[in-house]
Amino acid sequence: IVRLTDLRLSRGGRDVLRGIHLTVPRGSIVAVLGPSGSGKSTLLSALTGELAPASGRVEVLGRDVPQRSRALLELRKGLGVLLQGNGLLTDLTAAENVALPLRAHTDLPDAVIRRLVLMKLHAVGLRAAADAYPRELSGGMARRVALARALALDPPLMIYDEPLTGLDPIASGVVMSLVRRLNDTLGLTSIVVTHHVHETLPVADHAIVIANGGIVFSGTPEQLEASADPLVQQFLRGQPD
Ligand code: ATP
Ligand code: MG
Repeated sequence: IVRLTDLRLSRGGRDVLRGIHLTVPRGSIVAVLGPSGSGKSTLLSALTGELAPASGRVEVLGRDVPQRSRALLELRKGLGVLLQGNGLLTDLTAAENVALPLRAHTDLPDAVIRRLVLMKLHAVGLRAAADAYPRELSGGMARRVALARALALDPPLMIYDEPLTGLDPIASGVVMSLVRRLNDTLGLTSIVVTHHVHETLPVADHAIVIANGGIVFSGTPEQLEASADPLVQQFLRGQPD
């Protein structure tokens, strides 16, 4: 569903990543790990078409990521993106926030939108919070509303950038099990960029570690824990438990 071939990405005239090969199979959850500044968000911006590759190939949902804005808009409808922070509009209710992509990209009548929105909120366990404002929600609840909004257009591919930032361990556990459950029940594929290795590995099928401008590890979470690679060791040791 995602394939990167010999990808090189530059920022500010400097290569951030090079020689990136990655295949994300349909239905899987891939954790993208690595130290701060290693290029994780940069990798995501290539998937969403925000950043054009310096060289190599980026295929998402079965086609090359287009550089034309119109085709890009079409591609982005198929991507559920949850960016760092929630990006919820504070003067809109949870339901109104979730409705935004539906209003922007469909011309469905209000009653239908409302029904779809309540289904999405139900999927994240927040049906009862539909008419609450973001300030009335806990951090974990607000994150789940943002997740419901990312799901609004039923995208086959979900992209999460640091979904656990600012959440306590309990809320983190709730969000990560939700990511797994939504992935499996809705038949999604998920890419999760995160610093939170210990919360994320248990729900991931595959993990990669980015460091020094490339992928230094690619394998199952079990293989990651067992890896003797010094860069991987160093990265894992730097993690709080
Ligand atoms: P973090 O874990 O802190 O979010 P990251 O792995 O997501 O880090 P990136 O944000 O992808 O890292 O940044 C990778 C490198 O690219 C860094 O050296 C950063 O300084 C550089 N960089 C990122 N965005 C830009 C930009 N818009 N212009 C120039 N350089 C940038
Ligand atoms: Mg980042």
